[in-house]
Amino acid sequence: MKSVPTFASPLAALGIHQSTIFYQLAPAALIEAALQRNEGVLTDTGALAVDTGKFTGRSPKDRFIVDDSVSHNNVWWGKVNYKMDGAHFVGIQKRMMAYLNGRDLFVRDCSVCADERYSMSVRVITETAYQNLFAYHLFIRPDKSDINNTMDWTVIAAPGFEADPETDGTRQKNFTIISFSKRIILIGGTGYTGEIKKSIFSVLNFTLPYYNKVLPMHCSANVGPDGDTAIFFGLSGTGKTTLSADTNRRLIGDDEHGWSDEAIFNFEGGCYAKCAGLSAESEPQIFNAIQQGALLENVSFIKGTNEADYNNICKTENTRVAYPVHYINNALIPSAGEAPKHIFFLTADAFGVLPPVAKLTVEQAMYYFISGYTAKVAGTEAGINEPVATFSACFGEAFLPLHPIEYANLLGKKITEQNASVWLINTGWTGGPYGTGERIKLSYTRAMVNAVLDGRLGKVGFRTDPVYNMNIPLSCPGIPDDVLDPRNTWADTEKYEEQANKLALAFVSNFEKYVVISPINLINAGPNTVSAVF
Ligand code: ATP
Ligand code: MN
Repeated sequence: MKSVPTFASPLAALGIHQSTIFYQLAPAALIEAALQRNEGVLTDTGALAVDTGKFTGRSPKDRFIVDDSVSHNNVWWGKVNYKMDGAHFVGIQKRMMAYLNGRDLFVRDCSVCADERYSMSVRVITETAYQNLFAYHLFIRPDKSDINNTMDWTVIAAPGFEADPETDGTRQKNFTIISFSKRIILIGGTGYTGEIKKSIFSVLNFTLPYYNKVLPMHCSANVGPDGDTAIFFGLSGTGKTTLSADTNRRLIGDDEHGWSDEAIFNFEGGCYAKCAGLSAESEPQIFNAIQQGALLENVSFIKGTNEADYNNICKTENTRVAYPVHYINNALIPSAGEAPKHIFFLTADAFGVLPPVAKLTVEQAMYYFISGYTAKVAGTEAGINEPVATFSACFGEAFLPLHPIEYANLLGKKITEQNASVWLINTGWTGGPYGTGERIKLSYTRAMVNAVLDGRLGKVGFRTDPVYNMNIPLSCPGIPDDVLDPRNTWADTEKYEEQANKLALAFVSNFEKYVVISPINLINAGPNTVSAVF
């Protein structure tokens, strides 16, 4: 490994003078460094497996935006975007740089946005080699000739540096802080790599609509043989990565995209897939992507081997693998496609009441987009698992520096202009809530998505759901008819009605905060609680 002294000067501007810099190392060299530094082990497929430490997921309550001239009047402050004052930021930055000074550091220059009109360069400086490998995989890898020393944004990630909440104005010792005026992101006290990609996603969610009128989206995207693009919105765990990996369609990206006037483009250059329960049979493309160079996080091994055991989730349910997009064999590069013909809203409804597939009107699309519903399953002390409704605006509230309505209006406009069809897909439970019912088979979900994509589902008859007002297909090729109507899948219809009403009320109550800013046809597009209460 060679350090590159030419990078001393830009880092000196940050206050880092005495560090050994490992600049732009290739994956093999990063893995070698990670192994030498005991950051992880090599698996039988040649992937690097690391444990990310105390944090195995993001920490949204510890994500701050610095209150400055760029952000002050524009950011939607509150429980999503916590304010940090400039003085606290300066203090943390100073001590963080002092901490990094003299240490070995990994520096990587990369970029985001596959559409070069919106491309932004990002320098990622990390304390560990594996975080740098993550940046290599997830961001776009520019040609050497396209890299110069002036970067649009700098991300500095040091798991070993912790804030002092008393003096630093943070909630805990870990933090992610975005400064729009300095164009710096500081991440400390956590080794979870998802913070790196999602902080840059937050930046793009501010800059793209604000300066360029491009809609940033928390969605995956793929394209069919006829060039028809499909996008899949959904909160974590609803199936964006899983459903966008499709042997019959080319992958654009699995998580973050922009929609300009004429095209869809990936922000990233790689994927970050869940590994829990992964098998070669059910998800072959993702399984096969865990090859040489890939980065596995928090997985366990089959005893006495270096073979990952994806069914073992003792460290966390959120076991992950990061790999460059071209590890999916039919990925499309550059990662861009036409404006979407079909849009899917994925939801994992643990109440077991939403239909597995339904067609939405434009108003319904906006209503369900703003609502951003999925469900989580929370264990109680008595050991009973109860579904909890989660509403996260635009299927990604945690990453929205602007008010959700700004994104929703942009989406509504684009859907209308481009005449895209919008479908709700429940990838969650059927036949009863979590615990009683079961998760909809992945093969069924894939069959329903395919029937939309090849146009067959557009041609069948529909009926309107009395509570949710959505149009539910009467039949779907490859799917037994009774699966399509959630009422039929429950043993007790009365219990179904009760549960459907409970969730409808949760929708209405969540939407109350948007009522004052929404036109009446949008409010009316929600579930019909009157007919459900009797
Ligand atoms: P994140 O935003 O955290 O990356 P994601 O939306 O990409 O989340 P996935 O990684 O695709 O979510 O996770 C969906 C998980 O649910 C996978 O582990 C998949 O195997 C599982 N699953 C089970 N049944 C289904 C189904 N019917 N449809 C989609 N996924 C399913
Ligand atoms: Mn994903």
